[in-house]
Amino acid sequence: MAKVPIRPSVAALPAYRAGARAQGRLVYKLSSNESPYPPLPGVMAAVADSMVDLNRYPPMAPDDLVAALACFHDLEPGQVAVGAGSVAILGHALTVVATDSDRVVYPWRSFEAYPIMAGITGAESVPVPLGPGGRTDLDALAAAAAVPGTRAVLICSPNNPTGPAVHQDEFDQFMAATPDDVLVILDEAYVEFVTDRDAVAGIAALANYPNLVVARTFSKAYGLAGSRVGYLLGRSSVIEAVRAVTTPFSVPVMAELAAVMSLGLQAEMRERVEEVIQRRSFMFHALRAEGWDPPEPQGNFLWLDLGADSLSFADACKRAGVLVRPFPDQGVRVSVGEQEGVERFLEVAATWV
Ligand SMILES: *Cc1c(COP(=O)(O)O)cnc(C)c1O
Repeated sequence: MAKVPIRPSVAALPAYRAGARAQGRLVYKLSSNESPYPPLPGVMAAVADSMVDLNRYPPMAPDDLVAALACFHDLEPGQVAVGAGSVAILGHALTVVATDSDRVVYPWRSFEAYPIMAGITGAESVPVPLGPGGRTDLDALAAAAAVPGTRAVLICSPNNPTGPAVHQDEFDQFMAATPDDVLVILDEAYVEFVTDRDAVAGIAALANYPNLVVARTFSKAYGLAGSRVGYLLGRSSVIEAVRAVTTPFSVPVMAELAAVMSLGLQAEMRERVEEVIQRRSFMFHALRAEGWDPPEPQGNFLWLDLGADSLSFADACKRAGVLVRPFPDQGVRVSVGEQEGVERFLEVAATWV
């Protein structure tokens, strides 16, 4: 029987390995950089009320959310594209610029989804190793971006899973060195947690660089990972193209409502984020006191450079009731979750050094 041929670039895609899921109680899930808090006040009730319309289609495009985001970021609605999580919207951004025989450049190790999203376009994936201290190597990225055929560069600030943020001066040098027909996608999934004063400010940079787009998400600081809403900001010509390839009706009514409401609850969101930042600092200093030397954490997670021990360390954490995210032979990422889970994690880490 003849087999349906699958595109070679799709057959070669790496699998997305998600953080472990909790089974049973008394397990702290510090494996997916989620918020340890429930949705912001009032959000669950509003979503529950909207369920009566489940028999109806949502709007084709989530115009209320687009309008709210444009207002919030002081941009035009035409500069905002919303999708089913920023993973989807990052994929769309690559799809509109890259295809077979092009190149897509990204730092590595970085976000699990980048090689998959790059691979789907059919373009060649060009991973660029991180520099010392788990930092994104902007010079090396610029060199890779300058190679003819490069259509897009992904930059993650702060970098998942290692933690440090890209600095504004490095970013400006990178943009100056990069051809202006290369789309630069700055992924700011964790921007709300950044305390580094030198960190790049993506949205302010949009005015200077027509080839820049910035991706944001409601999954982390706003605690809506389960509702799948992310967005992209940039020049309307790129945004228009991204909208054209977005699956119609891909943002459910409940998700749009939750996002619009959450965006309006800045003070409540900041309060939680500040608590996470304080706990992150507690973890960082506790780890250093134990003898570890983690890279500077600027997201809601920390990185331990465990190399060959990564899987066995993650197993030890699991036995203590804590799920972390091991990257075999590289390291372990631990999310800043519930205090109790964090303390159990620190106990395991203390026995390891
Ligand atoms: C978690 C994360 C996202 C967000 O993904 P969603 O699809 O919006 O949930 C995007 N980029 C990075 C680097 C992340 O770690």
